Amino acid sequence: MQKTFMPPFKNLDELNKHQLKGLQWTVGHAYSGSPFYKKRLDQVGVKPKDVHTLDDLKSLPFTTADDLREGYPMPLLSVPESEVVRIHASSGTTGKKKVLAYTQKDIDDWLHIFARCYEMAGLTPKDRVQIAVGYGIWTAGFGFQLGCEKLGAMAIPVGPGNIDMQCQFLVDLQSTVMCCTASMALLMAEEINRRNLRDKIALKKVIYGSERSSEAMRQRIKELMGLEDMFDITGMTELYGPGTGLDCPKHEGIHYWADNYILEILDPDTLKPVPAGEVGEMIVTTLCKEAAPLIRYRTRDLTRLIDHPCSCGNILPMHDRILGRSDDMLIYRAVNIYPGQIDEVLSAVPDISCEYQVILDRGDDGRDYMTLRLECCQDSDASKYPEIAKKVAEEIKKQIMVSCQVEVVDYCSLPRSERKSKRVFDNRPE
Ligand SMILES: [Zn+2]
Repeated sequence: MQKTFMPPFKNLDELNKHQLKGLQWTVGHAYSGSPFYKKRLDQVGVKPKDVHTLDDLKSLPFTTADDLREGYPMPLLSVPESEVVRIHASSGTTGKKKVLAYTQKDIDDWLHIFARCYEMAGLTPKDRVQIAVGYGIWTAGFGFQLGCEKLGAMAIPVGPGNIDMQCQFLVDLQSTVMCCTASMALLMAEEINRRNLRDKIALKKVIYGSERSSEAMRQRIKELMGLEDMFDITGMTELYGPGTGLDCPKHEGIHYWADNYILEILDPDTLKPVPAGEVGEMIVTTLCKEAAPLIRYRTRDLTRLIDHPCSCGNILPMHDRILGRSDDMLIYRAVNIYPGQIDEVLSAVPDISCEYQVILDRGDDGRDYMTLRLECCQDSDASKYPEIAKKVAEEIKKQIMVSCQVEVVDYCSLPRSERKSKRVFDNRPE
């Protein structure tokens, strides 16, 4: 029988007991090992012995990306440096990178949960896994590769890009699984189609992550590659790297590894829990991470908890796909709007490109006004602009329940950026 990487718990009660032990260990470990955490906990007057129940999590202070930058290059370090066996870094959008340290146990734990992702996706030691993500200081490549070896499958570490070599190995090595971003998967799918390779390859599954993708995009990838299934993998460098959750073959949500970290979903403004099933910021607390433990780390990622068990029978809880970043959330006429929602509405409207801007102003009447400026497609006819504008305004009203003015502008008239484009311009006074 194949070894399992699933936790042994039979019910949520057993899982909660395990979480409490891990929380108590983490607070004690961070308090005694890290001057940063000792100071933070002392500031709110909490000692490790004060953690008696999971509810006591609420009394613990938050940590943020700023804390990581201030502690550069070894933030949150809670073990002697001699115990650190590796560091990884993530690509911050501004300033210094976030560097995170790992002990050997941290690495082992990461590979265990990564192997669990592969197991949940139905991989076995017979699979051949073509890994088309970055290697080096980034966590991605190492996680995908070492997790694959831990499961006992064959890793084919091609790295990102290099379409010719990817195609060659898909044919010659008969890879059964490919790991990459959704954009790379689409690129490969189109290339396989263009080169007429579909009958020569053995690809069954794609495991993709690290960016939003639409249902239409996933369908196209599956079709062109002739896949059985695709799986969304989550993760972040602060929390080991990729591999902290996966949507199972039922695709009812993303199972996350609650035996490894506690997930809270809080309102990013008030930092209080959101009502069950509503969107909020993911806050994570690790349960066994040694070198750089996280206590209530604000990830800035937005999602919602799925409050029913999965029909696959696995008791590990689920959250929804990542819906955006809390930094990008805006409040307009008492409605919280995140760009992921606007993306969703616009992606269903024909004749517009994916570039848009949201402009918020305060009128002389003291009310807030929102203008959505969007680009039409490359060769659409300017006489159709008013009709497109009307259609988009109606969809926004219907799906996000706010009114806005829509301006349609010519193709390529909005600025392009190689990095993430700035899309929201809030001109309202504080
Ligand atoms: Zn499931």
